[in-house]
Amino acid sequence: MNYKQALKNPIFKIISQSAKELQLDAYVIGGFVRDYILQRGSHKDIDIVAIGSGIELAKQVARNLPNKPKVQIFKTYGTAMLRFEDIEIEFVGARKESYNEDSRNPVVENGTLEDDQNRRDFTINALALDLGDDQFGELLDPFNGIQDLEDAVIRTPLNPDITYSDDPLRMLRAIRFATQLNFTIEPNSLKSITDNKQRIEIITKERIVVELNKIMESTKPSIGFLLLEETGLLEYILPELTALKGIDEIEGQKHKDNFYHTLEVVDNISKNTDNLWLRWAALLHDIGKAPTKKFHKKIGWTFHGHEFQGSKMVYHLFKRLKMPLNDKMKFVQKMVLMSSRPIVLAEDMVTDSAVRRLVFDAGDYVDDLMTLCEADITTKNPKKFKKYHNNFKIVRDKIIEVEERDHIRNFQPPISGEIIMKTFNLKPSKEIGILKESIKEAILEGDIPNEYEAAYQLMLKEGKRLGLKAST
Ligand code: ATP
Ligand code: MG
Repeated sequence: MNYKQALKNPIFKIISQSAKELQLDAYVIGGFVRDYILQRGSHKDIDIVAIGSGIELAKQVARNLPNKPKVQIFKTYGTAMLRFEDIEIEFVGARKESYNEDSRNPVVENGTLEDDQNRRDFTINALALDLGDDQFGELLDPFNGIQDLEDAVIRTPLNPDITYSDDPLRMLRAIRFATQLNFTIEPNSLKSITDNKQRIEIITKERIVVELNKIMESTKPSIGFLLLEETGLLEYILPELTALKGIDEIEGQKHKDNFYHTLEVVDNISKNTDNLWLRWAALLHDIGKAPTKKFHKKIGWTFHGHEFQGSKMVYHLFKRLKMPLNDKMKFVQKMVLMSSRPIVLAEDMVTDSAVRRLVFDAGDYVDDLMTLCEADITTKNPKKFKKYHNNFKIVRDKIIEVEERDHIRNFQPPISGEIIMKTFNLKPSKEIGILKESIKEAILEGDIPNEYEAAYQLMLKEGKRLGLKAST
């Protein structure tokens, strides 16, 4: 087969020409070829393999480009990278790899194209297109990756036990590609991942998180999490989630399986947001349920305080996985902490004051919180489903209405501490806090509008009650 069409970008002719000048063979390999055949839109990084020095080829290509781009060289890996327009092109010499037990860093020797294809993770990632003059665009597919693309199958080029044990990161890559492409993992591979799951321990947390995030960013993340669970990898990576599995029954009272519920919530939210951290919040919103679960004879199963417990667990989880402990983490914590708040509103009549309190507490994140709570509706009872969604629609409308009137979102008290001090001739003291709090409460309750004059009058009244004298 010839795929000249894939190589229309002028860069490929320049690489071809450069390889010819150095008298070596060069190929495009991996994701670019795979995604072209799958028509997945243009792949923004291109991998070039040279039979010889990848670094020399990169330098030659840079010399042949009109703007003479800088070549970044990674000596330890023997690779080089340059940018052409919005594309990153990575060059590597064909190599043969052999591994030892406790590292995913192989011993590397120069090799043939076949050797290089053998060291690739999956048949669909080993597809190569020839950049030689005469065979420009010829496909080299020693493992029938084309067939696997057609059948939507993830398969390793070699015995999967070798492929996964050599580099256990590939177990996560298999699951990640299965999720992104909606492919199935070939049964021997799946078994081998299950057998090798423990070897995930030699992979750095950062690399694990890269793959987790790619699963999270997919259209249907549950595909990946179900595979992680099925292979036993999830227990190593996110035990907080496996702890949510199962349904307990005492005296005929059951609770739902919070693991499968969580996956539904993540899939739901992924239809409505691309915000990776909001998706993480959906994934973690119920993790506090495992440690807080209790059975009471009268009321059945409860998870009291699971939101607070969950938000604390978010910190430990992020820390363990070496994820950023910054405002992203705080955002996830806040979402988890507040995740039940709107639900109470949706079950009941929605009052203005409840909505004002919600907006006050959630601030700028109130829309994200509503998105999370809507995704959380997984009831299979169509009547309830409709009712909850309707009520959330009412809450959303009320948020807009209340916000226009009361400006609660980034609440600034209409009466400052200074005004209070001046009015009552006070030094900094606890009375000031008490007065500010009563004004805030009155506004949230709807007793007074969020306006200076009304707040001023309330301050005078409350001050009097506290025995303070207004200095006129
Ligand atoms: P994407 O860019 O969408 O993540 P990709 O297939 O291009 O997909 P990269 O991580 O960019 O993945 O790697 C490029 C190529 O390098 C892959 O297609 C594969 O052939 C090879 N590769 C990457 N990582 C590994 C690995 N851990 N083991 C074996 N081969 C790998
Ligand atoms: Mg790539």
